[in-house]
Amino acid sequence: MEEKKVIIVGGGLAGLTAAIHLAQKRQKVTLFEKDDFPRHKVCGEYLSFEIKPYFDRLKIPLEDLQPKKITKLLYSSASGSSLEVNLPLGAYGVSRYALDHLLYKKAAEEGVELIQEKVTEINFLEKHFKVTTSKNEYTADYVLGSFGKRSVLDKNLNRDFFQKTAPWVAVKNHYRLKDFPDDLVGLHNFKGGYCGLSNTESGNINMCYLATYESFKDHRDPEKFNEKVLRKNPFLDNFLAEATPVFEQPLTIAQICFDKKEAVKDHVLMLGDAAGLIHPLCGNGMAIAIHSAKIASEELLKHFENQTSREEMEFAYKKRWQKIFSRRFNTANWLQQILLRDRLAEISQTVISIVPFLLPKIIKQTHGSPIL
Ligand SMILES: Cc1cc2nc3c(=O)[nH]c(=O)nc-3n(C[C@H](O)[C@H](O)[C@H](O)COP(=O)(O)OP(=O)(O)OC[C@H]3O[C@@H](n4cnc5c(N)ncnc54)[C@H](O)[C@@H]3O)c2cc1C
Repeated sequence: MEEKKVIIVGGGLAGLTAAIHLAQKRQKVTLFEKDDFPRHKVCGEYLSFEIKPYFDRLKIPLEDLQPKKITKLLYSSASGSSLEVNLPLGAYGVSRYALDHLLYKKAAEEGVELIQEKVTEINFLEKHFKVTTSKNEYTADYVLGSFGKRSVLDKNLNRDFFQKTAPWVAVKNHYRLKDFPDDLVGLHNFKGGYCGLSNTESGNINMCYLATYESFKDHRDPEKFNEKVLRKNPFLDNFLAEATPVFEQPLTIAQICFDKKEAVKDHVLMLGDAAGLIHPLCGNGMAIAIHSAKIASEELLKHFENQTSREEMEFAYKKRWQKIFSRRFNTANWLQQILLRDRLAEISQTVISIVPFLLPKIIKQTHGSPIL
């Protein structure tokens, strides 16, 4: 059995950021990722500017990718009534293909041990962990769980949310369309869900939508769903009439749920979506993943300097997670409830068009401040 100090399970934004942070503080880190790089992932690809100061500190050269700078939001209801507002903070338009790969290369450069193996089990045995992968067995003093929204590991760790229904599906494709603005993110409602549209560093426009399984199941095929459901919204109709898909087949994921999760389970510090997935309409999940990596890394480093016991370190991480993210999750929950009820969505849109400064205030509630 190979012995490791810190094992990070999952090389998405949360896992790779924590790996870079810890490695820069001269910690030996091993990260397991089951898939290879680069690859596309289902995501709205709207990365809140709040991550900028933290990425600058970690010397992650995000600007090298030449991401788009998004400063405006265009929102439309299912019937097509719309309004446009300036975003309080703004965001990068950057593909996960480029972003995750950038972090992967940075982690390698910082000396993180990157192993492409699927972790199948994590067990805490009194003082250390046994981590089993598809190929090997390892021991570790500390484990960070950054394996995303749903994994076989959640089942093995007996997490409550895994038993519940996961009633959402998501679909993503990139499109080519001349003259699509660089600085605009569209959030367009349709019956049973909503769809984000925004430009990326490559000039391809990302279209990513979330729909209830209930509304999707009658059509199943994304092509048919686009035709029969999305195109009822005039904005999406125009877009789909003019844009050309880049991928032959869209990427789809199912079994998405937004139930509460634990920030620490069986001594594993959970990061990113493994600690909780926020409704994507807030466009904040990536920043939360990155921010959670920062807090976990800081608490671990304090523990390594003998400032806290393992128990105190876990408690401090849980407490900071709650304090920083709970409000955003709560606001996102009620916003989601409103957007998915056609009538309520229309009423709130009328209210906002009368009092337009309300929308930036609501958006602010779902986002954080720049991560210092
Ligand atoms: C439809 C949709 C649209 C979204 N749009 C946006 C948006 O526009 N802006 C935004 O900020 N957020 C958005 N989000 C949320 C955002 O995608 C996530 O919050 C973010 O990806 C979380 O990062 P993560 O590192 O926690 O997980 P991930 O990026 O999912 O990474 C998890 C990694 O763990 C690996 N893994 C899993 N299991 C194992 C295992 N057993 N062994 C080894 N490796 C494993 C996976 O392969 C993966 O690479 C969206 C989410 C959805 C569903």
